Amino acid sequence: MWGLHEPNAPAALDKPLIDPFGRSIAYLRVSVTDRCDLRCVYCMSEDMNFLPKRDLLTLEELDRVCSFFVARGVRKLRITGGEPLVRRDIMTLFRSLSRHLDGGRLDELTLTTNGTQLARHAAELAACGVRRVNVSLDTLDPDKFRRITRWGDLKRVLEGVDAAQAAGLKVKINAVALQGVNEDEIEGMMVWAHRRGMDLTLIEVMPLGEIEPDRVEQFLPLSAVRARLAQTYTLTDLPDRTGGPARYVRIEETGGRLGFITPLTHNFCESCNRVRLTCTGTLYMCLGQEDAADLRAPLRQTTDDAALAAAIEAAIARKPKGHDFVIERRKPAAVGRHMSVTGG
Ligand code: SAM
Repeated sequence: MWGLHEPNAPAALDKPLIDPFGRSIAYLRVSVTDRCDLRCVYCMSEDMNFLPKRDLLTLEELDRVCSFFVARGVRKLRITGGEPLVRRDIMTLFRSLSRHLDGGRLDELTLTTNGTQLARHAAELAACGVRRVNVSLDTLDPDKFRRITRWGDLKRVLEGVDAAQAAGLKVKINAVALQGVNEDEIEGMMVWAHRRGMDLTLIEVMPLGEIEPDRVEQFLPLSAVRARLAQTYTLTDLPDRTGGPARYVRIEETGGRLGFITPLTHNFCESCNRVRLTCTGTLYMCLGQEDAADLRAPLRQTTDDAALAAAIEAAIARKPKGHDFVIERRKPAAVGRHMSVTGG
């Protein structure tokens, strides 16, 4: 029954999912839609073809598969997309999944959002037990924001950030570092974020999905950003890990944290404990590899979880050691699917 489904293969409960390299799968990222109300130039092409509704997992199916993973040791769920807050009735899923927080089987329920709908949903997210949100924001300049997102309104995102903080949510800003686009703003964004008590994490642009611009033009190695910041600020390496691939430094002058996600200049696959589920029920064991498992068929085949368990176990047994991104001129993207498909 919707919202009350619990995995129904008791023998499998508590048996953790461990991959061939001994990594326990404790983190599931779930893309709940491939649609987005923005079209960031490094993420999507302008004329994306979105999936027909029948291909998407229903909210009930999403709840069922998430709950299965929770029963098998996932402690952190991140809801993403596309833009998760544009999925109709998405709060029903948050309300339902929050039972795992209450029951102590889940440590964290969180989301990654572009912030455009956050003002509407922040209070309810907090009421569902969400404590932290990641807001993707690459610039504080309204014109540049419109250019990067192709039509977005920065004001709405900033209102979303305000609402999230007012609701008591801890906000982290994620910015993709783009050569010649926002590299001159990184320091200003960092100071802005730290003044508001928010971490800022910088991300290297990854070769995911074909887009119109050449990613060589966009790519800005974060080693260069770090070196530049170090001319003005004191960066102290921190051991802090938030369960993701970011490495953090404290900026002594602001007292805030700055994160670096460097899948190109340095990947951290060895400690990867995550898998990603697309909105159509495809499970990717690695962001940068093509191998995947279909969970929609076993989900729809029967209400019994045995087939689902078998599909997930077989998939985890194939989780690769890691990925190896390169960005080179005229080279196709490392994987054909856009970040909005796999779930960023
Ligand atoms: N719509 C939500 C958002 O904006 O956060 C969630 C999905 S979005 C695909 C997740 C994150 O992926 C965003 O921070 C976005 O900037 C980032 N992203 C998208 N394509 C990327 C790429 N090719 N390389 C690096 N980051 C990318």
